[in-house]
Amino acid sequence: MKPLLRPEILDLAEYHLVQYPHTIKLNQNENPYELPMDIKREILERLASAHWSRYPSFIPQEQIDLVARYAGWVPEGTLLGNGSNDLLQLLFMAVLERGKSVVISQPTFTLYKLLARGLGADVREVPMLKGFEFDVRGIIDAARQSDAAMVVLCSPNNPTGTLLGEADVVSVIESTTGVVVLDEAYVHFAPGSLRHLLATYDRLVILQTFSKAMGAAGLRFGYALAAPSFARQLNKLKLPYNVNIFTLLGAEVLIRRWEMIKGWIAVIVQERERMREALSGMKGLMPYRSSANFHLVELTGNTPGDVFRRLADRGILVRDVSSYPQLSRCLRITIGTPEENFALLTALQEIL
Ligand code: PMP
Repeated sequence: MKPLLRPEILDLAEYHLVQYPHTIKLNQNENPYELPMDIKREILERLASAHWSRYPSFIPQEQIDLVARYAGWVPEGTLLGNGSNDLLQLLFMAVLERGKSVVISQPTFTLYKLLARGLGADVREVPMLKGFEFDVRGIIDAARQSDAAMVVLCSPNNPTGTLLGEADVVSVIESTTGVVVLDEAYVHFAPGSLRHLLATYDRLVILQTFSKAMGAAGLRFGYALAAPSFARQLNKLKLPYNVNIFTLLGAEVLIRRWEMIKGWIAVIVQERERMREALSGMKGLMPYRSSANFHLVELTGNTPGDVFRRLADRGILVRDVSSYPQLSRCLRITIGTPEENFALLTALQEIL
């Protein structure tokens, strides 16, 4: 019988995340603060007066303009998506195919490899250096050797929290010839975006999301920033009406509440630093320096699986990343509210 699916799909490992019962959720790098009721109400009221029987605008110009202004880029180079995953898929589909190669640093966000493999592309993985620094030289060499169609950089990197400096990003762009994707999903917790590079480099695409700092993972909203000429080409393949009216209105309202959201971010960053100190002082565990809203911690005694289960028994969910390359002794812990962080530290003290 002839196969129904492409061999690349049959070869892919299934991706799933088991959600154990929990009271404290520190496993998906979400914002721990729920949107206040007045903001939710405002979104719902706007939604109630919208036309549900009609498609959204073919080009939601008002929201594109607003997102572009908020993100600091031109509207003609701004693409809206149903989460940044949606735009990653679009970008990969537009660039990659069998016979093309893509360079990624490892460990990193698992979706890059999954999507690239699904498209039949050759994935060149470059291990991070000691202390989880990016091997910039290795990334450039791998891209040159394989004449890579794409290099994907994630900064701050999930799951290590590592930041890639501007000079390194420039060096990757200038030393390679393909598309350079810079995933800035966690940028709001870091010193700043590298979006200004878009004015100089038309092979650069930056992705950002409302799922992390903006506290709206359930909204599914993300965007890509690129040179207008590149964005125009991507737009040809983007599904019409990929962002629904709820998401469009929600994103608009959240951008207008940016000042309030900035307050949350400041607290999370402060908590991240406080947690780093507290975790560093614990026996049996070592946190890596992070510029995101999570800590990668290396366990020196107990196994990650054991600590994961014992935290889960206490209702605390973290991410066991021990199956990632180089992370066989690691857990990833999202920064929660001060109360949640305190509960985590207390539990770890009992367990370790
Ligand atoms: N990029 C990175 C690095 C991520 O960690 C995530 C979420 N885990 C995403 C993109 C996807 O975000 P979204 O919810 O916008 O699809």
